[in-house]
Amino acid sequence: MIQLTQRAKQVDRRPMNWVERIYLWNVLIGMMITLRHFFKKKVTIKFPEQTRYYSPVFRGLHILNRDEEGRERCTACGLCAVACPAEAISMEAAERLPGEEKLYREEKYAARYEINMLRCIFCGLCEDACPKDAIYLSQTFAPSNYSRKGFIYKKEDLLIPDPVTQPEEYKKALGDRPDRKKISKVN
Ligand code: SF4
Ligand code: SF4
Repeated sequence: MIQLTQRAKQVDRRPMNWVERIYLWNVLIGMMITLRHFFKKKVTIKFPEQTRYYSPVFRGLHILNRDEEGRERCTACGLCAVACPAEAISMEAAERLPGEEKLYREEKYAARYEINMLRCIFCGLCEDACPKDAIYLSQTFAPSNYSRKGFIYKKEDLLIPDPVTQPEEYKKALGDRPDRKKISKVN
C-alpha cells in the first residue's frame, strides 16, 4: 500500500492593495470590451420581424395554391397523402355544387385538408406528387406553438390568399422562389 507522505502545499496569496480592492481597473477593462463590441456589425437579427436569407431550395411551410382566377386547385385526390412518408396529411373530399365554379377549379375539392407539422419532415414529396400544382413548400420558416394541437394545420391555415382580391398578400405568401411552381395555367 502506497503511503501519502507529502502534504498539500498551502499557497499564501499576496494581499490586495486598495486599488485592486475597488476593482476599478477591471470594471474599466470590461466596459472597454463592451464598447468595442457595441460598434461592431451585429450578428443577431430581430426575429420574427426580420428573417435571414434562405437558400432557394429551402423548404418551409406548405401552401395550398390557387389558380390565376383565385380558385382552389386541390381536388382531394389523395396522392400527396399517399406519397407522404410521415403520414402527416389527411383530407376529406367533397363534390362541387352548381354555382361553386368560382371557388373550386375541379368537380371535386378538399372539404377538409390537414397537415400535422409535428410529423412532417419537410421532404417535399407531397409537392412532387401533386398533379394539380396545388401544394408546395414555401420559404416561410417552420412554426412554433405552445400546444400540440396548434401544429395541426388546417386548410384555412394553408390556403394562399386570393391573387385576385388580395394580390399583395398573395405575393408575400408565395415568397421569392423563381425556381418553384407558382400560378400556372396547366392542369
Ligand atoms: S413535406 Fe414530406 S413529410 Fe411533410 S407533408 Fe409533405 S410529404 Fe409529408
Ligand atoms: S394537394 Fe394535390 S395531390 Fe394532394 S390531394 Fe390536393 S390535388 Fe391531390
